[in-house]
Amino acid sequence: MRTRRAALTVTAVSLILSLAACGQSGDGGSKEEKKKSSEGATIGIAMPTKSSERWIADGNNMVAQFQKLGYKTNLQYGEDDVAQQVSQIENMITKGVDVLVIAAIDGRALSDVLQQAADKNIKVISYDRLILGTKNVDYYASFDNEKVGVLQANYLLDKLGLKDGSKKGPFNLEVFGGSPDDNNTGYFFNGAWKTLKPYIQKKQLVVRSGQTYLSQVTTLRWDGGTAQKRMDDLLTKAYGSQKVDAVLSPYDGISIGILSALKSDGYGTSAKPYPLVTGQDAEVASVKSIIAGQQTQTVYKDTRALAKQAVQMADAVLNGKKPEVNDEKTYDNEVKVVPAFLLDPVSVDKSNYQSVLVDSGYIKASDLK
Ligand code: BGC
Repeated sequence: MRTRRAALTVTAVSLILSLAACGQSGDGGSKEEKKKSSEGATIGIAMPTKSSERWIADGNNMVAQFQKLGYKTNLQYGEDDVAQQVSQIENMITKGVDVLVIAAIDGRALSDVLQQAADKNIKVISYDRLILGTKNVDYYASFDNEKVGVLQANYLLDKLGLKDGSKKGPFNLEVFGGSPDDNNTGYFFNGAWKTLKPYIQKKQLVVRSGQTYLSQVTTLRWDGGTAQKRMDDLLTKAYGSQKVDAVLSPYDGISIGILSALKSDGYGTSAKPYPLVTGQDAEVASVKSIIAGQQTQTVYKDTRALAKQAVQMADAVLNGKKPEVNDEKTYDNEVKVVPAFLLDPVSVDKSNYQSVLVDSGYIKASDLK
């Protein structure tokens, strides 16, 4: 018995020693490997459009952060043209990128091109917007998209006095959605709608146009001009002598369009003040508009932090490690649940833009002059 235990101990010790030795050479090896596997690697970055500041910032932030780690980058903008984005990604694959980071214009249009990527063993990170209908998407870096809508809706309820019951309404509300081909659109809208719905059911909020389904309120390619036309139309058809009190807008560019329509209709005076208008992205033009008392709110999503997550993911996959994720159940792309890292969005208005946006260095004070 004693001999057996002693023999076992000897075996265990030698096992530990050999494991430790393995660990050492393994560590050294993996460092070597890290150098080899990621050294000189190129990251293909496909962004949707330069027409919105946030994507310019996303692209620049990623390029800077990837280059700092020694990667090469190939950054392309699809200018909201689906075919153009597909061919940009095809080109990246032909040129031999090692990882793709993609913010899709149309979340469903990439299955073929991502099959080509998979055939060459190129890993794919879906950036901000989930790529749908393909197994060839490995990780997803985004924000809590439903929370964006919840923040916008709660802001309206708060400022109308419905949340704390200080006012009863009824107030007139109109709702806008994002681009129908962007998977985020549904998350934003559902988050907002589930928050607003109880007040609509109690008739404390009234949507005079009657347009309350997402399919009735989307804005193709998030286009401000399209939103402006729809708002013009709503004001003509559903308002007359009535006033709009609040507009749920999912994105700053759409909010600017809505505000132009309101202005043309005589809003923006003390007799006819602007309604509450939400937004998203904390774009400079909208923050200026908030300071000027036109747009009321926006949702800030720190693109520096998002870029950092995408870089962390790409760096991990290139070095054979598992990227850090914090959500492995929410983002089902219809073929698989894509492991995600979700960041927290923040509501911003006149009262906190200075501390949230300026003091954090996201926007320069001089840009808001
Ligand atoms: C992004 C938003 C952005 C919108 C329009 C969405 O996918 O999540 O931040 O406002 O696209 O560019």
